[in-house]
Amino acid sequence: MSRIRIILQGVFGRRFSRHFLAGMFLFLLVPVAASCQVPAGTDSVPTAQTGVPNQTSATPSPTFDQVIDRVAEREHFFLAQMRHLHPLVETYIQNLKGDEDKALPVSDQYFLGRLNMSKGTQDLSFMGQPGFGRKFVSSLTGLYGMKFLPLGFAQMVVLDDDFERKYYKFTFVRREFLGSVRCLVIDAEPLDKSAKGRFVGRIWVEDQDYNVVRFNGTYSGHERYSYYLHFDSWRMNMRPGLWLPAYIYSEESNLLYRGGHKLHFKAQTRLWGYDLRQAGQNEEFSQIVVDAPQQSVTDQSAAAQDPTPVESQRHWESEAEQNAVERLEKVGLLAPEGDVDKVLQTVVDNLIVTNNLTIEPEVRTRVLLTSPLESFTIGHVIVVSRGLLDVLPDEASLAMVLAHELSHIALGHRLDTKFAFNDRMLFPDENTFQRLDFARDQADEDAADKKALEILTKSPYKDKLGNAGLFLKALQEHAPELKNLIRPHLGNSLASGKSTRMSALLTSAPQLQPERTDQIAALPLGGRIRVDPWSDKIELIRTKPVAILTSSEKMPFEVTPFYPYLTRLSDVGSEKVTATGPAN
Ligand SMILES: [Zn+2]
Repeated sequence: MSRIRIILQGVFGRRFSRHFLAGMFLFLLVPVAASCQVPAGTDSVPTAQTGVPNQTSATPSPTFDQVIDRVAEREHFFLAQMRHLHPLVETYIQNLKGDEDKALPVSDQYFLGRLNMSKGTQDLSFMGQPGFGRKFVSSLTGLYGMKFLPLGFAQMVVLDDDFERKYYKFTFVRREFLGSVRCLVIDAEPLDKSAKGRFVGRIWVEDQDYNVVRFNGTYSGHERYSYYLHFDSWRMNMRPGLWLPAYIYSEESNLLYRGGHKLHFKAQTRLWGYDLRQAGQNEEFSQIVVDAPQQSVTDQSAAAQDPTPVESQRHWESEAEQNAVERLEKVGLLAPEGDVDKVLQTVVDNLIVTNNLTIEPEVRTRVLLTSPLESFTIGHVIVVSRGLLDVLPDEASLAMVLAHELSHIALGHRLDTKFAFNDRMLFPDENTFQRLDFARDQADEDAADKKALEILTKSPYKDKLGNAGLFLKALQEHAPELKNLIRPHLGNSLASGKSTRMSALLTSAPQLQPERTDQIAALPLGGRIRVDPWSDKIELIRTKPVAILTSSEKMPFEVTPFYPYLTRLSDVGSEKVTATGPAN
């Protein structure tokens, strides 16, 4: 299992308004649902080979045993597919303290890696290989040392390495919709109570092809000092006939482990970056062959002239910028350019226009797909993490984050042009955070803070800066406990024990009042940005604000359970497949 030791993650979402004057962020709280629709894929890569899918509707009604056998067959197919897929896996854990009704995070942990289930499973079938599932479940035993393993969480993508009717007692519960997908709800208990690592709990099976789309429970047969966590594992329909793991929520409130210590935590695991073709060099090569020849050649001959030294320097810098951005996108850390960037860019434009700034080449924005709260610039590209976008309570706070980065650009703080040498982009994915570093020195940081304040006071956000200051206060307050969330991996820290970015805004901000339900300083992780785990494309989640009833529902920076809105590709996807088909 090759593991990238990397960053953090988050969730939450609200619709950013396109036109700041028409309506600022309309920020309130968003329901706790990292709903993630599956956009249509572009074509059928792992061919789903759905066994006997459509016959099921023709066959009047299969018996319950037949359904279970089909589920088992689909589950084995799923495992075989997973051997070839290597999504990014991010787990963010918040350790809690206090009574169950008001437990607060006291520390946190973060892991990012690439899932690799091919090791030790050389055969095509997983059947009759007792080692696989047991091995992975046993790594959860690291828990009793209070040491969480990313692999342990990632492994909750698997129901049972050899799921068969003969090992379980199944009970049909009811039919139920998850999103737009009708499911059979079935309880499963291992017949052999002492069997280790068998699933115990409830499964949701979509009623067309009988793929498992959700399972909720734990594994059986723990030993004295090892425990299996409880988890709620969700899959999404990413390819025709193929449902792949996207979200896992886990929590324990009273798990006793060795020494009588209690384990009390909640954790989110997210998977994305399934489509490896994005990093596929063959495809790029063929694109070059097809697209490149004439135009670029003729264009250049028209302007056949050496650039001035200043132009050369600019060109060199944008080459470095391009290299770094492309590398991050290839690793699966940067979302492809899209609609969310347009929203961010609108806010940046608001700042530029009202301050009469002239910046060449123009400023662009991109979203880092991970949860730790951070922002940084790569040349003239402002990057904001998904986690940070999630927790920002309003548009003024977003403007504050963007103004700081814009200031680096306006002040001419340069990207290290070492990235213009292409050999520096050739490194293993897991070294991304060592090799790509966009942090600035303190002098640059201070200068950017100062400039940003100037920009903001001349901007349309000038009367709302109290909110931004309030967000910074919340950030400062939680920085000691949430060290792994409020910690940059590529840029500079937003807040640490010592300093807080844009701290001048703190003084004008109102008092933090955690008990007041109408004061929202920061949102929970998870509701603003929806990621397509297959393509890494992102969009803003459109949800109606939910009124906060008690202060315990505010949950600033906290993780919450997942309830993605499930859809079938065939429900919404067929037209999109046709429409976007030839593009890639
Ligand atoms: Zn900075």
